[in-house]
Amino acid sequence: MKLTAEQVKQAAMDAGAGDVGIANIERFANAPRGMHPKNIFPDCRSVITIVQPIPRGVYRGITEGTHWPNYSFYGYNRLNTLFRPRVTYATACFLEDHGAEAVPVYPGVPERPGTRAPVAPGKPAPEINLNVRIAALACGVGEIGWSKVFLTKKFGPRVRLGTILTDAELEPDPLPEPGTLCNRCMRCVKDCPGGAIPKAGEREPIRIQIDDKTYEWGDVHMGRCTLTHHGLNWEASPFLRKDFPGLDLDVRHTNLSEEAAYRLAYPMASASWLVSPEFPSDACMEFYHQIKSHIQYFALCGAKGCIRACMDALEKRHAIDQAGYPTPVFPRKPWRLTPPQDDVTGGIAEGKFPERFNRPDPNPGGLLPPGR
Ligand code: SF4
Repeated sequence: MKLTAEQVKQAAMDAGAGDVGIANIERFANAPRGMHPKNIFPDCRSVITIVQPIPRGVYRGITEGTHWPNYSFYGYNRLNTLFRPRVTYATACFLEDHGAEAVPVYPGVPERPGTRAPVAPGKPAPEINLNVRIAALACGVGEIGWSKVFLTKKFGPRVRLGTILTDAELEPDPLPEPGTLCNRCMRCVKDCPGGAIPKAGEREPIRIQIDDKTYEWGDVHMGRCTLTHHGLNWEASPFLRKDFPGLDLDVRHTNLSEEAAYRLAYPMASASWLVSPEFPSDACMEFYHQIKSHIQYFALCGAKGCIRACMDALEKRHAIDQAGYPTPVFPRKPWRLTPPQDDVTGGIAEGKFPERFNRPDPNPGGLLPPGR
């Protein structure tokens, strides 16, 4: 019996998906070589996107300025590496139980050209990775907002995405009309603490063509985004301020690339140095070190502009299904850290430890009797 799109969607929903969409392979006609589904599975006929919601409450601790690990665990790394792939895996097994081959795709970062030699002449580099957001757009489950974050009708920007390639020929979902959800309100631009999302006209947007539709979004500065996301922006991280008081990286104006930002952020989170009265822990960035050791990931800004502000905007105009919660996204005035230049705890160590560096020793050599 021929497998239908409805059967596959029902299997994914039964496995715990928040939503499911399907594209035919023809919609990837303009995909670059390093991201084309057929360069993983040449017999692919359909692409399936599985939408997994990020619980709205995982952002609460960061919004209140009181609790950070929830977002890294439930909203990011474990959602992408554990909870979501279970649904992708179960759906892929369902397809194979019904006689279709199914490739569950690893959701790695595709924005990196391949560096290794092809395994045979005529083949692309062995580092093909799909752009899961563009695949999800082709599958009709939502659109890419100006912020480059994927938005769905049900959850807005609170989603992670999984992809399955299959040789089953399944009925595709309709493509969304451009601008269905993102009305270019630019709240994401205003609220991003890294200044990473461009204002209208600041940079040429990214444009792609799928069938007869043209989609575009902001060319996000990924170096600024990565520095902010991984906690090297004093505006978004009280931990940076504690471990490096006075450090003034001007993230909003830096032109560091995404790769260079990773090369800065990850070693910093793993680094250690001698303990001192000023820094009693040997971990250079104590919280990042701890959470990265536990979760293998650390997400610090809590997507303030691209997800939380966008969610606030979409909920307020009732553009998404999951709106109308009793508590607004930002229920109180957002917290704001003082700039590093005003941080009196930073700077010269001698002024901080007068006993050690400035005050004369009242009993050098310990020769005076106690109490004299
Ligand atoms: S906040 Fe959301 S809806 Fe508004 S411009 Fe940004 S991505 Fe679009």
